[in-house]
Amino acid sequence: MTITQEAEFCIDLHCHSTASDGALPPEELVQRAREKGVTHLALTDHDTIAGLGDAETAAAAVGISLVAGTELSCVWRSHTIHIVGLDFDTANPGLNAALVRQNDNRWRRARTIAEKLGKLKIEDMVEKATIKAGGDVPGRPHFARVLVDEGVVKDSAQAFKRYLGTGKAGDVKGFWPSLEEVVKWITDAGGIAVLAHPRKYKLTATRLRSLTSDFRQAGGRAIEVSTSGQSSGDLGFLAELCRRENLLASQGSDFHFPGAPWCELGSIMKMPDGLEPVWHHFRKPVGVTAPV
Ligand code: MN
Ligand code: MN
Ligand code: MN
Repeated sequence: MTITQEAEFCIDLHCHSTASDGALPPEELVQRAREKGVTHLALTDHDTIAGLGDAETAAAAVGISLVAGTELSCVWRSHTIHIVGLDFDTANPGLNAALVRQNDNRWRRARTIAEKLGKLKIEDMVEKATIKAGGDVPGRPHFARVLVDEGVVKDSAQAFKRYLGTGKAGDVKGFWPSLEEVVKWITDAGGIAVLAHPRKYKLTATRLRSLTSDFRQAGGRAIEVSTSGQSSGDLGFLAELCRRENLLASQGSDFHFPGAPWCELGSIMKMPDGLEPVWHHFRKPVGVTAPV
């Protein structure tokens, strides 16, 4: 196999639309990616693939290659970890059933938070917080906004300090499946499991190495080496981790909304040399041509 010049590509394998907590509908997201020079995009909404159909239509219209994606929450040693799935079969029944369960888990958590606040005589919180979340499953930031609106607290910081932060009534952990289960859903659907933004979990280097090793043993194949908002030190550390664990390297902006200059579609630090890019292993490999 020969590797063609990759400078001609701009590859972003992590971003969000209104199908989860992003600000732009899938079509507008793809349009923006095109404007930013992205040639290959994976839309990776949290625990859903509902945006992929619209994104695919828009991508075909503007000439971007869309890669199937999602970002799944799971638990590893009591830490909530995010696993990005790439290039899977979107019709896979097992994965689709799992996504329904993930969504149920989100609602179950939202209702538990609301029940706990209800015991403190703060009523109807699921309904109100759902409106804040634009009809989607509300998370703690949405509950905080309702508490501010209702005059229960003066600002979001106070909402967390009194009601939603660590150890308070609304501090309800997600009901997520194990790392092993989530990796299996992705690989059984023919996809590649990627450990998302490894520096965001605030783990020590030793624990991050155990996480990466467990992830690989579960069938995980890649880690995000380059993502937004990390230092060149982080980049070097993750590149080393990637080599040591013999994993493929992925990259993505984790774009959620316009107006954050530190997080823009297609704007990612170049990965260090000597890593094997995950996109060489897609079903339709990018940047690799088979010998004739
Ligand atoms: Mn998000
Ligand atoms: Mn994430
Ligand atoms: Mn994300």
